[in-house]
Amino acid sequence: MKIFNTIPELQTTLNHWRDKGEKIAFVPTMGGLHQGHLSLIEIAKQKADRVVVSVFVNPTQFAEREDFGTYPRTMEEDLALLEAQGVDCVFTPSAEAIYPDGMTLDVDVGAIGQILCGQTRPHFFNGVVQVVRRLFEIVRPDVAVFGRKDYQQLHIIRRFTSGVEIVSGEIVRETDGLAMSTRNQYLSKGERKIAPQLHKILGQIERRELGVKSAAEQLQRYFKLDYLELLDANTLKKITDNTSKIAILCAVFLGPTRLIDNIIFRRENV
Ligand code: AMP
Repeated sequence: MKIFNTIPELQTTLNHWRDKGEKIAFVPTMGGLHQGHLSLIEIAKQKADRVVVSVFVNPTQFAEREDFGTYPRTMEEDLALLEAQGVDCVFTPSAEAIYPDGMTLDVDVGAIGQILCGQTRPHFFNGVVQVVRRLFEIVRPDVAVFGRKDYQQLHIIRRFTSGVEIVSGEIVRETDGLAMSTRNQYLSKGERKIAPQLHKILGQIERRELGVKSAAEQLQRYFKLDYLELLDANTLKKITDNTSKIAILCAVFLGPTRLIDNIIFRRENV
């Protein structure tokens, strides 16, 4: 497995592969890798001849008061996992390499970036699109794979990037239903026991055992509720007569840790 932290080195290898007619799949990550990330790599392997993974904690998607400084950085373990997974190449750039002209946020995705997670994190999706566009420019992949765990992020990336086929992977969960996340490492033992309630309650909405209002009440027994919304899964707008798929989207705080989760289901179940 090749590991590069500068762009020219990376591009020499990528160009060599492209010259041979090999297709390149790309999986961007912030490290702190778990089975959710590895499942995206498995999809990438099926989609292309070569798999490139980036590990970069992007400063422009974190607000001042957020956890940029404490975000888990586990490069050694990550590289071992990536090697075992059969990844061809890992890109581990510095912030200076990604943003040679400084870290000014120069992307605005507009209203879609201000709803759901954007209410609490108004700059987040602008930062995400900024880094994904920049990484696409550097790597020039044929395909990129993203997780449906970050459903709004996936939707926005599809809308605000071009020239790369975007493929999605389903949410990988712990056996008790908690969606895997690097931030789960922040949970105390007690919090970790409570955390699966999030997915459990969303499941009760899907099965119509709970209405949205009672589900919100249930969630508030365990968490500080950030948002709980049912929207059209294709548009992330209000459900209409034309809605074929529904997205239950939720974010909560458990102590200082913010957890997100979602369930997407076909309308006929409603
Ligand atoms: P992150 O390192 O958190 O930026 O995530 C990198 C990619 O992994 C994103 O496309 C995420 O949506 C995806 N991802 C994170 N957690 C999961 C999960 N539990 N299941 C599937 N994909 C995930």
